[in-house]
Amino acid sequence: MNYTLTAGQYELKKRLRVQVQHKHLPHAIFLSGDDGIGALPLAHALAQHILCQNPIVEQGGCETCSSCLQAATWSHPDLHLVFPIIKSKDVRQSNDLRAAFRNEYKKNPYLLLDDWLACIDGEQKQPVIPVDEAHTVLHNLSLTSYEGRAKIVVVWQPALMNTETSNKLLKILEEPPQHTYFILASGSPDELLPTIVSRLQTWNCMGVSEQDMQNPALPYCNALTQQGMQLSHGNLGLALQLSKADDFKNELLDDFQHFMRQAFRFNAQLAFTRIEAIVQKGRSYQKRFLMYGLHIFRQALLFREHYKALSPHSKEELAFLEKFAAFINVKNCEPLAELFSTHLYYVERHANPKILFTDLLFLSTEHLNPKSK
Ligand SMILES: [Zn+2]
Repeated sequence: MNYTLTAGQYELKKRLRVQVQHKHLPHAIFLSGDDGIGALPLAHALAQHILCQNPIVEQGGCETCSSCLQAATWSHPDLHLVFPIIKSKDVRQSNDLRAAFRNEYKKNPYLLLDDWLACIDGEQKQPVIPVDEAHTVLHNLSLTSYEGRAKIVVVWQPALMNTETSNKLLKILEEPPQHTYFILASGSPDELLPTIVSRLQTWNCMGVSEQDMQNPALPYCNALTQQGMQLSHGNLGLALQLSKADDFKNELLDDFQHFMRQAFRFNAQLAFTRIEAIVQKGRSYQKRFLMYGLHIFRQALLFREHYKALSPHSKEELAFLEKFAAFINVKNCEPLAELFSTHLYYVERHANPKILFTDLLFLSTEHLNPKSK
């Protein structure tokens, strides 16, 4: 992975390149940003740049030296990758799932945490970076580097380090041995212990434009759909996930339509059956449902305001929008969108989906029928 194989983020890439060139790179870095926005591939490009034997100014790693070839597949002995796992008898740390992770990452470096959990059958379980991982990191860093260049630890989804793991790493983050780099990727500083954040140099990854997503140099972007890009608001990982799910658009429409109907005209049995069905489909579907809702509110408002809808997906969606627009106005659109955004936030943080969606239904009712307050 080099910088030119990652999407957009030009400012940040330039800053990283210059810091490595001038040997000013801090020893503990946090590339923060929403899941899927690109912190992990950027951390990868940065690590490869540091390890490369013949770095190239514009792109970082040369892609041809032996260090680059190993770093590109995360198999460089001085590059240690840590990612969340579902703990079990056989899986105690990320090393135990290294092959599976490399395989997923190779297909899509912008994979979301959901994509990874779905791959290890852990969608309904609690992912974690356990303390065993910190022990391995400390042990690896105590050995001399194989190539005498640098030792790098990349931690993907650092928010999933539990307190014990974080505490174990604190000291080494404070005083990293010479030529050691910690690169934490993805998430927001408020999800980490303040004691950890204070030891990191934080750089924020921004969303990328649709044009940058369609960069022909990015092989994993072939399958992007227009609707996937539009719904993703600049998050390439999300755009890829939504594009894959494009076939399920009618399923989303059907669920959304029925959910809103129950919110408007409450029938306990039908409402709970629908909620149960949405919950059963897993966390990534729940997130897609909420994002789809956000998209539909906006489209319905545009309808309402006598603009043409931006991008109806199908005849069915257009027919629904025409009816639904009558219930959406400038007053309730924002609180409804706010409601869906907040619930999206909680789904991402693994809150109980049954409670969340029941709550969402009741609160949507209030906004669709202001008199019922
Ligand atoms: Zn190289």
